[in-house]
Amino acid sequence: MTVQKFGVFGYPISHSLSPAMHTAAFSALKMTDSVYGAYAVLPEELKDAVLKAQADGFRGLNLTIPHKEKILESGIIKPDPFAKKVGAVNTLLFKEEGIYGFNTDAAGALAALETAGADPAGKKILIIGAGGAARSISFLFGERGNTVRIINRTAEKAEKLAAEIAVKTGNRDVSGGGFSTGWENLAQADIIIQTTELGMGKYEDVSFFDQLELPAGKTKDEMIQTRLKSQAVAFDIVYNPRETKFLKDAKKAGAKTLNGVMMLVYQGALAFEIWTGQKPDVGVMAEAVLKGLERKE
Ligand code: NAP
Repeated sequence: MTVQKFGVFGYPISHSLSPAMHTAAFSALKMTDSVYGAYAVLPEELKDAVLKAQADGFRGLNLTIPHKEKILESGIIKPDPFAKKVGAVNTLLFKEEGIYGFNTDAAGALAALETAGADPAGKKILIIGAGGAARSISFLFGERGNTVRIINRTAEKAEKLAAEIAVKTGNRDVSGGGFSTGWENLAQADIIIQTTELGMGKYEDVSFFDQLELPAGKTKDEMIQTRLKSQAVAFDIVYNPRETKFLKDAKKAGAKTLNGVMMLVYQGALAFEIWTGQKPDVGVMAEAVLKGLERKE
């Protein structure tokens, strides 16, 4: 039996839920010859580590922080058109002809929204944050012709990203700015996607809404209640904790809420399909992620 090797490269990596998620998917499909490991790889070691994985007969890899952008600089990857446009790769496929790169993060976010009954077609999207995850998600919605507003603590980063997306996708309804326009942007949005670290780790008790200046005499809850559209969907791509302060605030005001668990599962499921040609059981993968999160709590 030849072992089919898969894995994830990141730094740090001990927190990764990907091994549990993919191992569960292999088990459910009785792919007993497939193994998935987590490997701590320093940025300066990335190119050699990927080439070594290729020499060792790996079939596929995921890349996570801090490697998604850096791998393209190595020149050893053939990115697909979307990953090339975004400038980030989270999935590698090893083939005879070379190493292919894909970005399944944004498609994972889209699948999570769609399966939660929040079809984003034609909707106005507000993206909070302009980091790596925001970048791929904004590109996807820009490509799909949505009206996209990106706001970030560092306004220039959001403005630059929006301008780049507008040029590369031809969608002129993509704009960027800072948090100072937050309340008015909220009033326009059908779907709000939170992609910053607010709500996790040292920011656990902080919500994006806490970053917005309140008009005199108004409370945060009053502002959210009056600005949020009645059918608005609040999606936080953070999955640990499962309910961030942003989601709690939005839920209180009546929004439909969604956390980052299913985005994590779908980006993994799409990578799994790229590697194996098989559709994994996303329910089994989600169960493994939730068990892993419970252990961390
Ligand atoms: P990143 O590239 O480092 O971007 C971080 C973003 O957070 C930037 O927009 C940054 O704003 C903002 N930020 C950080 N601290 C902040 C603060 N105190 N106040 C306001 N904004 C702050 O990170 P990333 O790769 O995009 O990941 C972001 C989050 O998404 C992480 O929590 C990650 O776990 C999650 N994620 C989830 C999935 C999933 O599958 N569910 C996938 C990918 C990522 P500045 O530009 O102003 O610094």
